[in-house]
Amino acid sequence: MIDRRTLLAAAGTTALLGWPAHAAKPASTKSSSIKVGSFKVTTFTDGHLSLPASMSAPKADAAARTAALKAAGQHGATVASPLNVTLIETGKDKILVDVGSGPRFMETAGKLVESLETAGIDPEKITKIIYTHAHPDHIWGTVNDFDELSFPNAAYYISEAEWNFWMAKDVLTKLPKENHGFAVGAQRNLKAVKAQLTTIKPGKELLPGINVLSTPGHTPGHISLEIGSDKEAIVVLGDALTHPVISFEHPNWQPANDQQPDKAVATRNQLLDKLATDNNRIIGYHLPVPGLGIVERQGTGFKFNQA
Ligand SMILES: [Zn+2]
Repeated sequence: MIDRRTLLAAAGTTALLGWPAHAAKPASTKSSSIKVGSFKVTTFTDGHLSLPASMSAPKADAAARTAALKAAGQHGATVASPLNVTLIETGKDKILVDVGSGPRFMETAGKLVESLETAGIDPEKITKIIYTHAHPDHIWGTVNDFDELSFPNAAYYISEAEWNFWMAKDVLTKLPKENHGFAVGAQRNLKAVKAQLTTIKPGKELLPGINVLSTPGHTPGHISLEIGSDKEAIVVLGDALTHPVISFEHPNWQPANDQQPDKAVATRNQLLDKLATDNNRIIGYHLPVPGLGIVERQGTGFKFNQA
């Protein structure tokens, strides 16, 4: 009997979509664990995105942008953006923060299930999924090639504002044409888990020791998570801070993928100030693998330290 996984492997991944996929390199399955109180927090790679360098800050001075990218080790017209998915283990729960890109977004991404299985984690044992937002690289891994749930036994959570934005009948009128596919994909994946999904409001505790922070701008209902308390807390940023140099040293630059650019700038500045003051550890979905570090003050600005 041919099982589904053999079939999937034979079918290969379905390449997508507009963005160039050269500069591909083999997916790393490297993961990294830390203890936060009674929680074990680990990041797993979903592979990486391959993006035009200019998207990181289309309106910034080109020479300054090139210098910032170079400072992050990114040379050339295409840059690789890592994908770090966070797993929180509480003893009772196995909670994933976002689910990766799935098979339909980019051939360099969609490796999360493979990364989990390599580490001996059964996708069927994931109990909860918390989405930071509904962009393809965070949510399209909800369903697999066969439109079956990748994490069939989980309860799903998304912010109410995010759900309302993507599920609105007129969502396409609020997006540039090149991002209409984002809405189609968000609806396909969110509808697939509707029966087991709860909408949540930021500003309160979702589960014991896990607080939901409002970090809008990248998308209208974007959230981040604070795990644990006080200085020990670790903040899972999602895409509130996406680049190790640009987001920290040039927070006012506006990446192409921020849907509400001014709001995203305000969120970044508030967040950087808070994180540097509280000295919290952070995990960034697109920060260098494994995504972990801290925010330090540098003159009047900030700096990412991969600690
Ligand atoms: Zn992202």
